[in-house]
Amino acid sequence: MSGSLSTLSALFGGRGVALVKGQGSHVFDSAGTDYIDFFNGHGAALFGHSNPTLMAALEKSSKGLWTCGAGFESQIREELADILGKLLGDGRVFLCNSGTEAVEAALKLAAALRPGRKRILACRRAFHGRTCGALSLTFNPKYRNPFKEIIPNTEHFNPEDIASQIDTDTAAVFIEPVQGEGGVHILNVETGREISEACAKNGAILVADEIQTGLGRCGAMLASNLTGLSPDMVCLAKGLAGGLPAGALVWKKELGDFPPHSHGSTYGGNELVAGVAIAALKMIATKNLPAYAETLGKEFRAELELISNNKIKEIRGLGLLCGAEIEMPSVDVVKAMQAKGLLALAAGPRTVRFLPSFAASRKDITQGAAIFRETMEELS
Ligand code: PLP
Repeated sequence: MSGSLSTLSALFGGRGVALVKGQGSHVFDSAGTDYIDFFNGHGAALFGHSNPTLMAALEKSSKGLWTCGAGFESQIREELADILGKLLGDGRVFLCNSGTEAVEAALKLAAALRPGRKRILACRRAFHGRTCGALSLTFNPKYRNPFKEIIPNTEHFNPEDIASQIDTDTAAVFIEPVQGEGGVHILNVETGREISEACAKNGAILVADEIQTGLGRCGAMLASNLTGLSPDMVCLAKGLAGGLPAGALVWKKELGDFPPHSHGSTYGGNELVAGVAIAALKMIATKNLPAYAETLGKEFRAELELISNNKIKEIRGLGLLCGAEIEMPSVDVVKAMQAKGLLALAAGPRTVRFLPSFAASRKDITQGAAIFRETMEELS
């Protein structure tokens, strides 16, 4: 690869293949090789590739207004906000274009709603994004340290220690119901309840980062509901428009709102993408995709658990967010599986992460588990 794009592969580590086509749960490279896709653009292709409903919605959207700018009334944007608002009763919604922007919006709104409070808390191993505010919440020092002089202060604790740290100087607590990038760690339900209660008692705002876990992937519309969390705000992105850039912050109406002119986004809630997001959200409900994710995820983990290999330490996950903690470098396994036709990704140095889409079939998970087993045998 030449030119400025080579910077991207230096930043992310090149995979050495060019993906050119996708169909359902499979992608194909420029040589025609077929891969089972349990990577799905870091989980953004939640519905798989070339989903006919989303393609039809995109075609319909493309014939309308692509963007009309905040301030003008937009029926499509309103419809999307209404659907999303229902996730938190009759919640309010800010629409943006990515996960990190949803987190930035949550940080700014929390600061505006809790003036004078100095503390923002997050978890060790957390990942919340890479723009400066979100980066301050992300734990991995490798990501934060080069920028530490200019990012805000956040305090990081183990999830089970956070509740005792929440006080009346705490503006907000950010938490992922299941840590994805941090190694596929599921928040303990009791810990989730304690954090929720401590936030409520002290008036701290509880922000659930459901960018990876939400929209049915984990077996419920919000994984907060499975992990004891009662969030005041929820951040969404990734699969929201099936892989097109889309993000949202949803918050409880009674919290209040942004001060006038204090936040905005040129592209956020643009009609082109909003039309696709509406179709995506309707599909989740009408096809009961969270239930499918729960069942398929359980079956996949059951297959992974049957693998007898002493280098596999633990299989973890909720719904279609699955991880295998292993006693060897996760990138080696990810690379070797790719050569055998399975795309997955690392979640830290020792965990392989699988993010199958709703398009994955039972055959895909059986083949995927078989490729993982063979790879582990060969590398052990
Ligand atoms: N929060 C979580 C939990 C994520 O998994 C991610 C992305 O991987 C983000 C935030 C950042 O989202 P984006 O890459 O869309 O900015």
